[in-house]
Amino acid sequence: MKKILFLFVCLLISKVSLADNVILMIGDGMGENHLKCASADKAIYIMTLPIKGWVHTHSANNQITDSAASATAYACGEKTNNRMLGKFAGGDDCQTIAEKAVQEGLSVGIYSTDYATGATPSAFFAHVYNRNDRKTIASYKLRAQNVMDIKVPVSKISQEVEAALNKLKNNTKGFFAMFEGALIDTYSHHNKLDKMKEELYDFDLAVKFASDFVRENPDTTLIVLADHETGGLSDECRYTQKSHSGTDVPVYADGKHAELFDGKQDNIEIYKKMYQILFEN
Ligand SMILES: [Zn+2]
Repeated sequence: MKKILFLFVCLLISKVSLADNVILMIGDGMGENHLKCASADKAIYIMTLPIKGWVHTHSANNQITDSAASATAYACGEKTNNRMLGKFAGGDDCQTIAEKAVQEGLSVGIYSTDYATGATPSAFFAHVYNRNDRKTIASYKLRAQNVMDIKVPVSKISQEVEAALNKLKNNTKGFFAMFEGALIDTYSHHNKLDKMKEELYDFDLAVKFASDFVRENPDTTLIVLADHETGGLSDECRYTQKSHSGTDVPVYADGKHAELFDGKQDNIEIYKKMYQILFEN
């Protein structure tokens, strides 16, 4: 009898520990040299994370992606065309990883310094042909707010992380959280290096808080990446263009399944790995 009880308890524990959390942190436009140039003035925590890999970012219809197609690749696991959000290239709506998480009973949080209907956060709950269709995005957001914790825009992403994660973790089924530092991209479009660095330092602090959470909650995987590079920032820390570039971006990972993100990968594989961690464990 004791043996059976012991087995039952073991089964219960293994069942409970199945709940996995994924924290996806997107530094919009944050290429390798954004990190390197920022680290010249101040140590960058992100660069100390245990796993580093690379992500190819091209979209379905362009070598150089925009944030809409790239965030959709992370959210839905397929390449789509620039400007499209939460839709496959053929035009059908895709189920985002955030929507799937809600369906499976997990908690979901979406936080960004982007404007209210910005492309990156919206890719996780909206389905539109054009990222500038703000009215439709806003209506999707209104509906999604009933089932997800959505805060867009926030003024500093670092100020959101601890409270958000402590709220999301109160779900035995686990959670999916997305945090975005949007202004790294904005300032890179304007070639404003110092302002870009300020935003990157705040994003880096946010990553530090998330990493601390991972230490205390070991069933968590933290993924830090960019959607694309912006500004063609050179090794000498000079911007060479005002637009996005097609260069690969670094991905860093920490926590339980960090090793999955080692090496080179396409942006759609990031979705597949997150899906595996959350739903196929
Ligand atoms: Zn941009």
